[in-house]
Amino acid sequence: MTGRVLVVDDLDINVKLLEAKLSAEYFDVLTAFNGSSALEIAAAEMPDVILLDVMMPRMDGFEVCRRLKANPRTADLPVVMVTALSDAANRLRGLEAGADDFLTKPVADIALFARVRSLVRLRRMMQEWRLRDEICGRFGGSEAHSDLDDRPANILIIEDDGLAAAKMKQALAAAHQVITVTGCVAAQSHLDSATDLVIASLTAGDGDTLRFVSHCRASDQLRHLPILLIAAERDLPRLAKGLDLGANDYLVRPIDRNELMARTNIQVRRRRLQNRLDENYRRSLSLALTDELTGLYNRRYLFAHLDEMIARINSEGVGAALLLFDIDHFKRVNDTFGHPTGDEVLRQIARRAQDSVRSADLVARLGGEEFAVVMPETGLAIAFAVAARLRLAVAVKPFVLPGASGELDVTISIGVTVANAGYEDRDQFLKRADEALYEAKATGRNRVVARDAGALSHLSLEPPPQQIPL
Ligand code: GH3
Ligand code: MG
Ligand code: MG
Repeated sequence: MTGRVLVVDDLDINVKLLEAKLSAEYFDVLTAFNGSSALEIAAAEMPDVILLDVMMPRMDGFEVCRRLKANPRTADLPVVMVTALSDAANRLRGLEAGADDFLTKPVADIALFARVRSLVRLRRMMQEWRLRDEICGRFGGSEAHSDLDDRPANILIIEDDGLAAAKMKQALAAAHQVITVTGCVAAQSHLDSATDLVIASLTAGDGDTLRFVSHCRASDQLRHLPILLIAAERDLPRLAKGLDLGANDYLVRPIDRNELMARTNIQVRRRRLQNRLDENYRRSLSLALTDELTGLYNRRYLFAHLDEMIARINSEGVGAALLLFDIDHFKRVNDTFGHPTGDEVLRQIARRAQDSVRSADLVARLGGEEFAVVMPETGLAIAFAVAARLRLAVAVKPFVLPGASGELDVTISIGVTVANAGYEDRDQFLKRADEALYEAKATGRNRVVARDAGALSHLSLEPPPQQIPL
C-alpha cells in the first residue's frame, strides 16, 4: 500500500531525510517548510498523512494541527506530531491539539513506517466509508463519526508483568472495558467478535505472541482485529516481524500513558470504521436485492435465483414451479384512493403471499403490481393448488386500509407453470408463466391458469370467475 505524505519541518535537512526514507518505501512525498504553507498544501492536496514538526518559527506545530482539525475539509487528515525525545508535555499538548499520533526525533525507520502505514490504512477506510455512505445516503457521516468515538471499546490486554498490566488497565479503564490476561493461550477464551482491540506484550507468559498474531490474521473472525504490540528496546527485531505478520502498531517500554491512550484510540477508531463498513456493505447488499416497499426480494434477485435454480433443474433433473401474479384493476385502487393506499395494498398482498407459501418458496416483486413465487421441487398439481389458495387468500378477506373508508376488495390473477427438467431456459420459463397469467386476465381475472412444461397443452382453469369488485 502506498500513500501521500506531507512532511512539514522548518529545517531543510529534516525534510530531506524523511522524504528520502518515505520515497524509498514508495510513498509520494509532499513538503512544506512552514505552518501556513502546510495548511495550504494540506487543503489543496489532501494527503493521506501529515508529519508535522512541533518546533517551527511563527506558527508552531500545535497551532497548525489545531487549524487543520478546525477546518472541516482537513479535519479527517491524520496528523503525526514529530517531537523531541521523551517530551511528555509536548505529547499532551499534541493530543489536545487533535494530533492522531506521535513520532520522536530522531525518527527510527520501524516507527516511521509502522505509523504512517497504519494511518494511511485508517484514512483509506475512512474514505471508503464516506463513499459508501454517500452512495447509500443513509446516515450523515459526521454524526455517525462522533458516535464512533463515544462508546467504550472492549480491550483485551495480554501482559505477564502484573504491574505493567495494572497500569495499562488503569489508564484505559476510564473510557473502555478492559480485561487483562497473562498469556496468549488464556487470551483465546476471551476473544470474540465483540473484542475491539488486543494489546499484547511480545514477551507475554507463554511467549508466543508472534504465533498469536499470525493465528489472528489467518482466522476469518479475527482477521481485522487491531493488535497493538508492546516491546522492549532489545526486542526490536521480533517487533519488526510482528508488524510484518500484521500487527497494527506498537509501544516501547516503559509505556507512556498518553501514548498508550492515543494509540489505543487510533486502533479503536479503525475498528469502529471497519465495523461500520461491514454493516454498510451488508445494508447496501440488501438494498440492492430487496424491494423497499414490500421487503420482498426484487427482480434482480429473482433472476439470479432463477438462474441458479435452472442450472440445478438442468443438471440434476429436479422440478420447480413458477407463479406469476398481478393485481386486478389495480389502477382503479390508485385512482380512487390515491397512491399511498395503493402502496399499502401492495404491502398487504406481499404479506398474504408470503403467508400462503412454504418457507422454501421464494416470493419476489417483479415490479409495479406484479409478483412471482418460485417453488422448488414442486409439480404442476401442487403448484396449482398453492396458486388457488393464494388467490383465495387475497379475494376472500377484504383489505383494511388507512386511506380508504371501510374495507376494500382486491383480487389477483395468477399464471402457473413448471420447469422442463433437463432443458429449461429462464426466459422460456417466465414466458410460459406470463402467457398463463395473460390468459387468466383475458378470461375474466381473479383466476388461476396453468401451463404444463411443454407449453402446449392448456391444463387447467380456476373455477368460475367471480364478479370483479370495485
Ligand atoms: P389489470 O387487471 O389488467 O392488471 O389492470 P391494472 O389496472 O392492475 O393494470 P395496469 O398495468 O393498467 O396498471 C397498473 C397500475 O399499478 C398502474 C401503476 O400506477 C400502478 N403501480 C405500479 N407500481 C406501483 C406502486 O409501487 N405503488 C402504487 N401505489 N401503484 C403502483
Ligand atoms: Mg394489474
Ligand atoms: Mg400490470
